Amino acid sequence: MADFREVADRVWVARYEWFDVNVTLVAGERGVLVVDTHGSGAAAAEVVDDVRRLGAGPVVGIVNTHWHFDHTFGNATVRGAFGAVPVTAHEEAARELAEGAERIKQRYADSDDPHRDDVLATTIVLPDQTFSSARVIDLGDRIVELVHPGRGHTAGDLVVRVPDADVVLAGDLVEESAPPSLGEDSWPMEWPLSLDLVLTLLTPATVVVPGHGAPVDRAFVEQQRDQLGTVAETIRHLAGRGVPQADALDAAEWPWEKERLETAVRRGYEHLPPGQKRLPLV
Ligand SMILES: [Zn+2]
Repeated sequence: MADFREVADRVWVARYEWFDVNVTLVAGERGVLVVDTHGSGAAAAEVVDDVRRLGAGPVVGIVNTHWHFDHTFGNATVRGAFGAVPVTAHEEAARELAEGAERIKQRYADSDDPHRDDVLATTIVLPDQTFSSARVIDLGDRIVELVHPGRGHTAGDLVVRVPDADVVLAGDLVEESAPPSLGEDSWPMEWPLSLDLVLTLLTPATVVVPGHGAPVDRAFVEQQRDQLGTVAETIRHLAGRGVPQADALDAAEWPWEKERLETAVRRGYEHLPPGQKRLPLV
């Protein structure tokens, strides 16, 4: 059980212990939008109970901020409870979830994680409403904007903006409870530029809800953008000097522990255009 806490007019966030992940509700005249659905059918059953307990109205839609299972594996359970409401996501998020869901289940099947059985029992529901750049959801007396700011944490991140409440739900493009996660499907060289676009949507007073952790403000997002910018620029600098990828982590200072950045460096080197890489000196 987690409490939905109102962070702005009719915008509630519940923070769940498993993955420290946020589920957000945005309510309007027509009903409630559920943004992200947690990591398994069982985890989402808890979310459904908490949504019912809040009693903010009927659920009329689901939004997935990106494909990762801690944000999408609850889709079926939320639909089971509230009806076959539309599930909206970026087109790449839908594609990556279709491709990646079985891989996630396999990873749990091979583990002794306490959530193993719940993850394996989860029915996957793919987003059925997709878009490439932007989409508006009309909740009657208020609109909600979904914007794909470019690639970053994944290829298909979106941010949710509630203009009348000055709230932006950033998904995992922004993280508060841990450094941003630069995984196998991340775009470290493009992430800072995507956050530049997100920053254009923020005022000094905007409440920014990260994918994980407590709500933050514009200054926090600026700082995280600068740290991600340092990672990208350091990769560009090292590759341009001919430092081999294998030596890159030890050849510079990084904003976070090196162990977190192995994948970022590898992906960054791979994504750099050939003209920006120099062959290593022998
Ligand atoms: Zn994620």
